[in-house]
Amino acid sequence: MHLLEQIERHGRTSPDRLAHVSGDRRMTHGELLAKSNALAAWLDSQLGERRTPVAVHGHKEPEMLVAFLAAVKSGRPYVPIDYMTPEARMARVVEIAGAEIVLTPAKVAEIVAAAGALDYQRKPLENSDPFYILFTSGSTGEPKGVVITLANLNHYLEWMHAEGNFQECGEVFLNHAPFTFDLSVHDIYLALSSGNTIFSLTKDHITNLRALFIALRECGATQWMSTPSFAQMCMIEKGFNSEMMSQMRAFYFCGEALAPETASKMIERFPGVTIWNTYGPTEATVAMTKIGITREIIAQWNPLPIGYAMTGTRVVIRGEDGKAVPPGERGEIVIVGPNVSPGYLKRDDLTAKAFYPIDDSRAYRTGDWGRDRDGMIFCEGRMDSQIKLHGYRIELGDLEANLRALPEIADAVVLPVKKGDIIDSLTAFVVLSGVKQGTDFEQAAKLKTQLGVRLPAYMVPRKFHFLDSFPMNNNGKADRKKLAEML
Ligand code: AMP
Repeated sequence: MHLLEQIERHGRTSPDRLAHVSGDRRMTHGELLAKSNALAAWLDSQLGERRTPVAVHGHKEPEMLVAFLAAVKSGRPYVPIDYMTPEARMARVVEIAGAEIVLTPAKVAEIVAAAGALDYQRKPLENSDPFYILFTSGSTGEPKGVVITLANLNHYLEWMHAEGNFQECGEVFLNHAPFTFDLSVHDIYLALSSGNTIFSLTKDHITNLRALFIALRECGATQWMSTPSFAQMCMIEKGFNSEMMSQMRAFYFCGEALAPETASKMIERFPGVTIWNTYGPTEATVAMTKIGITREIIAQWNPLPIGYAMTGTRVVIRGEDGKAVPPGERGEIVIVGPNVSPGYLKRDDLTAKAFYPIDDSRAYRTGDWGRDRDGMIFCEGRMDSQIKLHGYRIELGDLEANLRALPEIADAVVLPVKKGDIIDSLTAFVVLSGVKQGTDFEQAAKLKTQLGVRLPAYMVPRKFHFLDSFPMNNNGKADRKKLAEML
């Protein structure tokens, strides 16, 4: 697939068709083409031959998409940074990425307005060239950058185009995920490559449920990709059903386990609309297995299957000895195929731990427990302390390292708190280095503020417990099981 050529073609042949709707902002395919050309030329004027990554800091503004496309047209990968990222963490991301330029929506608008209309000769991209770099939580307190190449992305899009039956013109892709989360890659590039529209939900929709449901009613969405957590949130509203969203053709769920109850309710509320359970880590480009969830499948399986591997990619279930386990047995899910990332930016150590070659293909050890039953794959949770909280990927080690870096804290352990099977919040157990300042509540509030300077708000634990010391296990480590009993 010639992705960028295809996107540009829609800009030339259907310039007035809507490419992006975000709040009260609208951008057509023609505007996207013209603006991304102008910005690509500006990037060349600033960076010359240097193909350093371009950081893009913002939210869901149309200029974000302009910046993403301008970067790749000029032969540079882009690094999205969400507005929620605290300054210190953002500075680290920019430094690790080696980005010389940080674009914001306001800056993009200014550059584009000053440039006027111009033609731009797109730089040729090799399949192995990085297309985007997404930073995720790293276990040592440092974010790590997953590099995704043009070939990785094409492999995903070709699979989806072959199976998704997207109509050219008339599809609206509802975009819930932030642009720093690769579920948004599904929305952006499937919509743009098929000449369709992305409808972005913004922070205003997420913080104001009335506005959210008005948007869902009015957006005309036909395609939906989100975490199950978001659908669960929407189901609080009784009217969230096929009457509210009458154009819906497919729901894709990814990023965390789809509970059978959630799938059942979705089938009830949206009869005739396909509910897909899809699975994949950022390191293997959005998703790499899928299965349409039916009442029969719900009756047969708990947990639900994550489905069958994408064309051209396979799953190996690896035992402790590194060899494939017999069919049906539990082991680690390893993904093998052209969708697997080359690795973590400038982190050969982390890359070597998780990525390796199998035959002529690249393989990624997911850290997920799984099983293969005649090609149907099941994901059975994490082998490590990576968790999903309301759809956000968090390494508890990242959080603990950032807590320990605060001068008032001598040691910290963070545990997830579940409601049923679902993680609902985080609790920090803390040993202070000095005397507690005020009440537990006051001390916790102080620590939350300090942590909020280092980490995005969704990572800050809801509760803090202050202890004189941690219970120890036989290995002399903090006994997490005993701490969990205190929850
Ligand atoms: P991320 O890189 O944020 O997409 O997170 C990837 C991780 O989310 C995977 O390694 C799994 O642990 C989890 N995950 C993704 N999709 C599913 C799914 N359908 N069912 C269960 N877990 C999932």
